[in-house]
Order: sequence, then structure tokens, then C-alpha cells
Amino acid sequence: MPPQQGLTYVWRPIPAGRHAFAAGALEADPNCPVISYCGVEASATELHGRTEYEWVRRGTCMDCWRELTGSRPARSS
Ligand SMILES: [Zn+2]
Repeated sequence: MPPQQGLTYVWRPIPAGRHAFAAGALEADPNCPVISYCGVEASATELHGRTEYEWVRRGTCMDCWRELTGSRPARSS
């Protein structure tokens, strides 16, 4: 996709952790569920109005991280 489209994903702390969502999820209908890169379902409203405290408190989801970086474990046995 063209780089001028800017960010294609966003990180948001939700009760289940800090997950990455497609950027379009921010414009999703508030009543619609949105799915993180790792498959966690959240309410679209949960992506908004997050506080600094929540950002610090929630751990980064490593499954989302791997999805975005494409860094799958090199070792496969
Ligand atoms: Zn995740």
C-alpha cells in the first residue's frame, strides 16, 4: 500500500492488553466489534479516550507485534 496513506495500524490499550488494530478500526461504528491483529475482539469505543495510565499499565501484545513486524520465530522444529 502507498506510504502516503500513513499509518496502517494503531496500538491501543484495551482491558485485554495493548493490541494493534487496523487504522480503519478508529473510524469503525462504535457499536461494531473490531478485531486486533492477534484476533482479540474489542468494542470500537474501547479504542478511544485511552488514558496515559492505561498505556503504561497494559502490556504490549507480542502476538500483534509479531504480526506487524513479520518476525515469526526463526526456529521451527
Ligand atoms: Zn494482540
